[in-house]
Amino acid sequence: MSLRATRSEGLVTSVVVIGAGVAGLTAASRLRRGGASVTVLESSARIGGLVESERTEGWVVEYGADGFLISKANMAGHVSGLGLDSKVVGGGNTPRRAYIATEHGLEPLPASLFRFERGAIWELLSSRLLSPGAKLRLLMEPFVPRAREEESVSGFVSRRFGHEVSDHIVEPMLRGVFGSPASALGMQGAMPKLAEHERRYGSVGVALMLAPRAGTQGGLVSLSGGMQTLVDALGHDVAPYTHLSVPAQSIRRKANGRLAVATSRHGDIEADAVVLACPTHVAARLVAGLDGTLADELSLVRSADVEVVSLGYEARDLPSIEGTGFLVDPALGRALVACTWSSQKWRGRAPRDRFLVRCVVNAPDCSDDELVQLTREELRHFAGITATPVLTRTKRRRNALPVYAPGHRALATRAKERARSHGIELAGNGYDGIGVPDCVASGLDAALSMLSAQALHS
Ligand SMILES: Cc1cc2nc3c(=O)[nH]c(=O)nc-3n(C[C@H](O)[C@H](O)[C@H](O)COP(=O)(O)OP(=O)(O)OC[C@H]3O[C@@H](n4cnc5c(N)ncnc54)[C@H](O)[C@@H]3O)c2cc1C
Repeated sequence: MSLRATRSEGLVTSVVVIGAGVAGLTAASRLRRGGASVTVLESSARIGGLVESERTEGWVVEYGADGFLISKANMAGHVSGLGLDSKVVGGGNTPRRAYIATEHGLEPLPASLFRFERGAIWELLSSRLLSPGAKLRLLMEPFVPRAREEESVSGFVSRRFGHEVSDHIVEPMLRGVFGSPASALGMQGAMPKLAEHERRYGSVGVALMLAPRAGTQGGLVSLSGGMQTLVDALGHDVAPYTHLSVPAQSIRRKANGRLAVATSRHGDIEADAVVLACPTHVAARLVAGLDGTLADELSLVRSADVEVVSLGYEARDLPSIEGTGFLVDPALGRALVACTWSSQKWRGRAPRDRFLVRCVVNAPDCSDDELVQLTREELRHFAGITATPVLTRTKRRRNALPVYAPGHRALATRAKERARSHGIELAGNGYDGIGVPDCVASGLDAALSMLSAQALHS
């Protein structure tokens, strides 16, 4: 069978969207509503990409994202627009507190630093994660001069707050969120607000004292039935135009000026424009024949692997567990990166009297069985859990999370402009944020940019 995303009566533009993760689905749906003829190509057998929930016998197991910041990037508006307001779920019955595992046990995570809230400095000063010397060093922060160029997160935080804040607080958090060490991540990509505070106020500490109070910035939520609920809603509109198990192989320009997306199953698909909503390393490969410089730029965005292990238990077999989870200080040299008490963090994740745990583990060379054994050993070590799980799931994601190195923002801007000159929009987690709201916003931006260009030319 051969597909042709042709210009149809009344539709000005035909677009091929490559990748049916949240970014691609959002772009496709908005383009459809804007009157474009859309074909979505997805290499795997399902939509959703890194967002994937398994629902089985009362368990909701998340293989990727397990929640999102509803306050970010107009996400509340998108959720309402998708008719999902009644599906939004908050926490379970436990206080929302996360911990950092240290050699002395679990200590509360000073979370307000990452939410850029007033009180962050006070929270750091009262944390047992820092030595008295490190707290004195914190008080010197207002006198530290501004940086002249973008630094790594570890460079910035060590320079402004001292190395203990960087090593024992920021490092575990960023490894948990980005899957990369803070030394590999640039401030503009990973913690832009702190960098902006330094630029505007000179002192990050002083800026944090002027920041909003805790709790005023809107929170982390999830969806009933898991994050798959979001994917299903996003995919609903575009399902008839979505082709699963059809990887795009390359993009080239035809003699008639149109773009041609090569696929093995459907041959060439012609289009006026393309949204590349696949991982950056794939995007680089797809445009290599069209624009070598763009391919080289995209290849500069490295990505990190992630291994996720979910274990379900009989609740009565577990010791008493507090909070929503913990991050592990990498200085301990353990395989466990982060642990979420999923059924305590969110309502409706486990059947009655059962308990769901989700762990991110750094063990790329383990088999699935070894991953489960290793995770059980880590849970025994950190939380005293010795029970045998009644449910085990593993998921490995290769090249899943892009590494926003110093200079990433400028690179992303350059790549997007260059791609646009070919009629290609770049969307997804490789460019302006890795969170689900960022990816939804990037899909929307890609669609709106295409629709406004089309309006200008029609
Ligand atoms: C373990 C984990 C936990 C996370 N937790 C959270 C969280 O709690 N909250 C949060 O906000 N974010 C979280 N994230 C990040 C967030 O889920 C992702 O950044 C986001 O879902 C990425 O969406 P995307 O559409 O950009 O890309 P993807 O989801 O990667 O989608 C890209 C799609 O392109 C397809 N594709 C690849 N090659 C081709 C090809 N040649 N042709 C056609 N299709 C192709 C892929 O199969 C995929 O479906 C997490 C990520 C991971 C891995």
